[in-house]
Amino acid sequence: MPGIYLHIPFCRHKCTYCDFTSFPNRLQYAEAYMACLYKEIEMRGKELSDVTFDTVYIGGGTPSVIDPNYIYGAMNQITKCFHLSRDPEVTIEMNPGTVSEKKIAVYQRAGINRFSVGLQTAIDSQLAELGRIHMLQDYMYCASLLKGKNFSADIMLGLKGQTQEDVRRTVEVVALSGAKHVSMYALTPEDGTPIYTDYLNGELPDGDEVRALYDYGRELLEARGYLRYEVSNFAQKGFESRHNLNYWRRGEYIGMGVSASSFFYERRFTNTFDLDEYMKCILSGFLPVIESEQVEKKDAKFEFVMLALRTAEGISDEKYRAAFGSDWRQDFADAYARTAQYLEETPAGMRIRDEYLYVQNQILTEYMNG
Ligand code: SF4
Repeated sequence: MPGIYLHIPFCRHKCTYCDFTSFPNRLQYAEAYMACLYKEIEMRGKELSDVTFDTVYIGGGTPSVIDPNYIYGAMNQITKCFHLSRDPEVTIEMNPGTVSEKKIAVYQRAGINRFSVGLQTAIDSQLAELGRIHMLQDYMYCASLLKGKNFSADIMLGLKGQTQEDVRRTVEVVALSGAKHVSMYALTPEDGTPIYTDYLNGELPDGDEVRALYDYGRELLEARGYLRYEVSNFAQKGFESRHNLNYWRRGEYIGMGVSASSFFYERRFTNTFDLDEYMKCILSGFLPVIESEQVEKKDAKFEFVMLALRTAEGISDEKYRAAFGSDWRQDFADAYARTAQYLEETPAGMRIRDEYLYVQNQILTEYMNG
């Protein structure tokens, strides 16, 4: 079932690795922005009145940096303008440096039932290096407020000077704090971010070192009962993110807010990345879409295979046939022949062998070439 994404683009401070659409110095626009977001929710709700949505994901930026009543208002607007399933998964991203008991109580009243907490690392000096606004003790406080609730923690690999011991301590903290889900992903040094200079200076761990940290972290997480269901995502049984599973199954979603992207009726479209332009468009009664393209069948097939091969469930022969009326092994006969050694049968189809999942990009390149 389709999902809804809301983008809250405000942050207190820009992290050194960040190239997301986030504005550290514009919190004073939160009220005006949220009024525009409510308006976009109404506009999109009218277009999609016959669709039932199963998940809502409030991401950013730092959604938890703004007054929680705005989040309550956004959820109120969602339930008014969209049709949600009976038991929707509703997630909010939180920065541990911005939480309080009151905020979490408001989120819960708004219907939020899942929390995604950006820990990144349990080592304070590394948090400072990343420009994060929190320290380990803030995460511990946040986790204590979320005790017993469905929450996820982010872990980042490939940090300057990061050792296996640092990863072990971080995984321990996450597991002991009661997280049900863990996203563990490698830092990507993006051109234009401050950390890119460290990368150019050779100060960040290289690919092989990051891979070793990942393999070690994965082993620890699995020993703690977190099963890998996608290359960067691990969960206790039954706590997989439904919202993200929908992306990887090439499900439809509507994204609202500045820079949000959507996929509906085989069309991908993206809102403007400019905050002022976003608000001007909405206030003039227009949707702020800057890019829109119909996905060709050939590209749709590649997307299906690429996304499915990121996951532990892999490609379902039946679902591919239902979507495209053909057999994926025949559609990608050359790529399949070149990569068969990295794949294994599942009851439903095929997936990348466990030991190769981390390097799936190299395998997927073969499929891109047909
Ligand atoms: S909190 Fe997230 S969105 Fe905000 S600056 Fe840091 S990485 Fe970027």
